[in-house]
Amino acid sequence: MNTSKNPNIICGWGRFPCIEASILDKIDFSKSFIPRAYGRSYGDEALYKNVYDSTGLNLFIDIDLEKEYIEVQGGVQLQKILKLLMPKGYTLPVVPGTSFVSVGGAIANDIHGKSSRGAFGDFIQSLEILTPKGLYKCSKDENNDLFFGTIGSMGLLGIITKAKLKITKGSPYIKQNIIPTKGIENAIDTLERFDKDYEFSVCWIDAFTENALVMFGDYAYYEELPLDLKLRFKAFKEKKTIDIPLVMPNFAVNDLDMRAYNIYYFNKMPKDESLVHYFDFFFPLDNIKNWNRLYGRRGFLQYQFVGPKEASLEVFDVIKSHKIYPYLVVLKRLKNAPDRVFSFVKEGFTLALDFPVKDDVLKMLHKFDEIIMRYNGLIYMAKDSRLPKDVFQYIYNDQIKALTSLKAKYDENNILKSLMFERLFMR
Ligand SMILES: Cc1cc2nc3c(=O)[nH]c(=O)nc-3n(C[C@H](O)[C@H](O)[C@H](O)COP(=O)(O)OP(=O)(O)OC[C@H]3O[C@@H](n4cnc5c(N)ncnc54)[C@H](O)[C@@H]3O)c2cc1C
Repeated sequence: MNTSKNPNIICGWGRFPCIEASILDKIDFSKSFIPRAYGRSYGDEALYKNVYDSTGLNLFIDIDLEKEYIEVQGGVQLQKILKLLMPKGYTLPVVPGTSFVSVGGAIANDIHGKSSRGAFGDFIQSLEILTPKGLYKCSKDENNDLFFGTIGSMGLLGIITKAKLKITKGSPYIKQNIIPTKGIENAIDTLERFDKDYEFSVCWIDAFTENALVMFGDYAYYEELPLDLKLRFKAFKEKKTIDIPLVMPNFAVNDLDMRAYNIYYFNKMPKDESLVHYFDFFFPLDNIKNWNRLYGRRGFLQYQFVGPKEASLEVFDVIKSHKIYPYLVVLKRLKNAPDRVFSFVKEGFTLALDFPVKDDVLKMLHKFDEIIMRYNGLIYMAKDSRLPKDVFQYIYNDQIKALTSLKAKYDENNILKSLMFERLFMR
């Protein structure tokens, strides 16, 4: 779980912020800590002076293909589950943009993906959580306040020790259809027009030129595959990754590099139907291990929000007027997540924007915050380390109250605590 050469320094995925921490391999409720798995959350929600390393909870417990479920411990990585399921023709209904996250982390942020079926939390049949008050089994029918509260709880209620997840029929190959377009408005319209025809959708946008690739996908099931891929279906091989071994002190990608890379990427991608590997469709960034080091010493941050189409258009207007361009822009469409206590997932368009950490960027993000507040949108806490407390309290008002009252029931002394919790929840 360490993200640095110094084992006691841990960072958010954006490498901003980083702190010195004690890493606990046993759960001990006599002192405050936060669970932390693979550190793929960008900001400070998995950071605290004491962190419990949940990656040791790595056992597979049960699998039933007929009943379509898998049960695993909370630290198991999604990639490991996919490698087990895919050769059998099964998969997880919802995965994020990286396979290197744990089941506990995916539940704790109620992560979303490219799937039109919903969010990760919609496919949990039951879970087990160890809170300072005790160990609870939860489902829709048992301790359901804690079940819905744990989904999206950001580690603040306890440690997710086990989860039973719904699985569905799938394939290691995806029929991909890419529609090129230009301009944020056209990208949103294209996504909105065609996403109901596909199981998966996502849009990549080059903020410099506003070239966009609206990508759709469906599973290519075994029967539909050409013979050579049929032969490879059951021999699911790990894909090779390139590593960025160090954070180079005098190196960081800049506007010129990214302009050039985005033009290259736009041109090289197919602009019609093709058959691609599941991992290339869902996790293109996983091909470069530690790609977050490319941003150099100061690190980067991702601003992700959800709101109506107009919010995305206004955010893009601010970007253009400031001429401060995000290096990566990903657009998706979300639908409501019912019954949650605290979750980012709600109906609307979500834009994820990567920026290097710089003072002028931080100033511009305040303008984004104002837009999101005006449109009743939400900002994703899995990606945040800078949101002002008043903005957080305004946008998540009711959700904060609901999570805080559950915390009073299961963790009355606030043993579970992160930097984010201290920064935004506490007085
Ligand atoms: C390249 C990339 C692409 C991404 N794409 C998406 C995306 O498409 N959609 C999306 O929603 N997110 C996305 N994310 C964010 C990522 O899915 C979440 O931040 C996820 O929670 C990280 O999981 P982790 O196991 O690394 O947990 P960590 O980052 O270590 O922790 C995340 C949170 O989970 C809590 N936690 C971890 N383990 C447990 C446990 N066992 N019990 C209780 N709480 C626990 C922590 O306390 C913390 O609050 C992406 C991240 C990256 C780096």
